[in-house]
Amino acid sequence: MTGASKGIGKGIARVFASKGAKVLLAARDLAQAEAAAAEIRASIGGGGGIASAVAADVSSPEDCARMAAAADERHGGIDIVCSNAGVFPAARLGEMSVADWDQVLDINLKGTFLTVKACLAGLKARGKGRIIVTSSITGPITGYPGWSHYAASKAGQLGFVRTAAIELAPHNITVNAVLPGNIFTEGMEALGPEYIARMTSAIPQRRLGSVEDIAYAALFLASDEAGYITGQTIVVDGGQVLPESPAALEDL
Ligand code: NAP
Repeated sequence: MTGASKGIGKGIARVFASKGAKVLLAARDLAQAEAAAAEIRASIGGGGGIASAVAADVSSPEDCARMAAAADERHGGIDIVCSNAGVFPAARLGEMSVADWDQVLDINLKGTFLTVKACLAGLKARGKGRIIVTSSITGPITGYPGWSHYAASKAGQLGFVRTAAIELAPHNITVNAVLPGNIFTEGMEALGPEYIARMTSAIPQRRLGSVEDIAYAALFLASDEAGYITGQTIVVDGGQVLPESPAALEDL
C-alpha cells in the first residue's frame, strides 16, 4: 500500500487491516509511516491483521523493489497492491517548470508503473491478485486550473490500468481504479479552508468524502466477489461530476 502514512492510503490500510489483511504501509517519511502502522495496530486490537511500515519513494525503482521484498519477507507474499501515493501541487501552465511537471508525473504515473512492476513477480507466483490504483476525477473526467500535470498523471493512470488489465488477465490478476472526488485528508486540508468551502458547495451531497468512502470501494475491488471486474473505474465523489452546470445545484 503506497502513500499509506496519511490520508486515503492510511484509510485503505486501516479498513483492510480491520478485515484481517496484513498491510505494509509505504511512504517516504518512515517515522510517519511507522506512526500510522502503530495507530492501525492499536485501532484493530488483536483480532485484525498486522500493519508494518517501510520507507519507499515510488519514483525510485530500487525503493519499489525493497518495498516488494519487505512484503514478501514480513508478510509472506503479496495478494493486493494499492498504488495510492500521489502529490497535487498547483502551478498554472505559464509558471509550471519542467521540474514541476516531472515531479508530478514521476510520482503519480511512473510511481504506479514502478509499484506494479516491483510486485508483479510476487502476484504472478500466487496465481491471483488484485491491483487497485487511486486515480482521481481530475484528469479522467474533470479539469481544474493549476493541475494540468496532475490531471495528465491521473488520466494516464487509467490508460495504464486498461492495458495492464488485459496483460494480467491470464494470470488471474485484476487491475482497477478508484476515482475520488474531494476527500478530506491531510493533503486536502493543506489546500486551505476557502478551497474546501468552494468544493463542498459544488458537491450534491454537500460534504467532502471521508477516507473510508474510498477504502470501502477499494475493499470491494480487492474482494473475491469482484474477481470478474477488471480494467474498470469507480467514481466516489458524492455526485460531484453530475451537475451539467452550477445552476443544477441552485435549487437543492
Ligand atoms: P496526502 O494526504 O497528501 O497523503 C499522500 C501520501 O502519499 C502520504 O502518505 C505521502 O507520504 C505519500 N507520498 C507522497 N509522495 C510519495 C512518494 N514519492 N513515494 C511514496 N509515497 C509518497 O494525499 P491524499 O489526499 O490522501 O491523496 C492520496 C491519493 O489520492 C493521491 O494519489 C491523490 O492524487 C489521490 N486523490 C486524492 C483526492 C483528495 O481529495 N484527497 C482526490 C482525488 C485523488 P510521504 O510524503 O511521506 O511520502
